[in-house]
Amino acid sequence: MSSPQAPAHVYDGYLFDLDGTLYLGDELLPGSSELVSGLRDAGARVLFLSNNPTRDASDYAAKLSRLGIPATADDVLNPVVTMPGWLRRNRPDARAYVIGSAALTRAVVQAGIHLTDDPKEIDVVVASYDRAFDYRKLQIAFDALRRSEDVLLVTTNMDAYCPLPGGAGEPDSAAVVAAIEACTGHRLDLDVGKPGAVMAEAAMERLGLRPDQCVMVGDRLYTDVALAQGVGMDSALVLTGETTREMVDALAPDDRPTWVLEGAPSLLPQDLRTRDGAA
Ligand SMILES: [Mg+2]
Repeated sequence: MSSPQAPAHVYDGYLFDLDGTLYLGDELLPGSSELVSGLRDAGARVLFLSNNPTRDASDYAAKLSRLGIPATADDVLNPVVTMPGWLRRNRPDARAYVIGSAALTRAVVQAGIHLTDDPKEIDVVVASYDRAFDYRKLQIAFDALRRSEDVLLVTTNMDAYCPLPGGAGEPDSAAVVAAIEACTGHRLDLDVGKPGAVMAEAAMERLGLRPDQCVMVGDRLYTDVALAQGVGMDSALVLTGETTREMVDALAPDDRPTWVLEGAPSLLPQDLRTRDGAA
């Protein structure tokens, strides 16, 4: 089965995954900087979407800028942004128990959400990537969720692990959610990361565009491509990260991404690429 050709037009909006798509670890993938500047010069709006709940948007903006893609915190969405945003809008008076990173906890507090570790007071258990996760935290979540059916279990992202350079990795939020689900029988109520609707809607709101005006670009089928498919947005799978062409070919035709590209720079239409190369 031949893969779709690269798009010949410029979309109004581009949602870019980061690791595996624009960079690998601390190294920019070739052509990423020229791609983003070319799209911006052509009038497109660009947003960067990460599922990592351990760093805040300004950290990513600084990293992108350092690597050669100028970005501000407003150009970045990740669960450290979407979780506090969802809580503020939907549970502004909730008392939350956060199992998560310092960046996430800080952002939840800044959103005006009251924190507690008293199971009798907890309305929402936020389960996330937490290198200090231990039995005491599991017990608090257990006690809160077993106390009342009305207590919510929400997560920042459902990634099983976070890949690290050199083939290593760390258990990610899905592992913490699984531990809590296993002992409480309470099923996860909400995921504010990719591929969920909360992240997709936050992205559309930030860009001021509709899904049919945008394309989601990423290296993972079950987060990046799934987010696009969930809201009727075009998707571009890049083969610079986790997914191989064999994995794409094994999909049912309806599940395939709109575009399958060797790398993100193929998104830049040929005429803009030539002009950019000469610049
Ligand atoms: Mg990725």
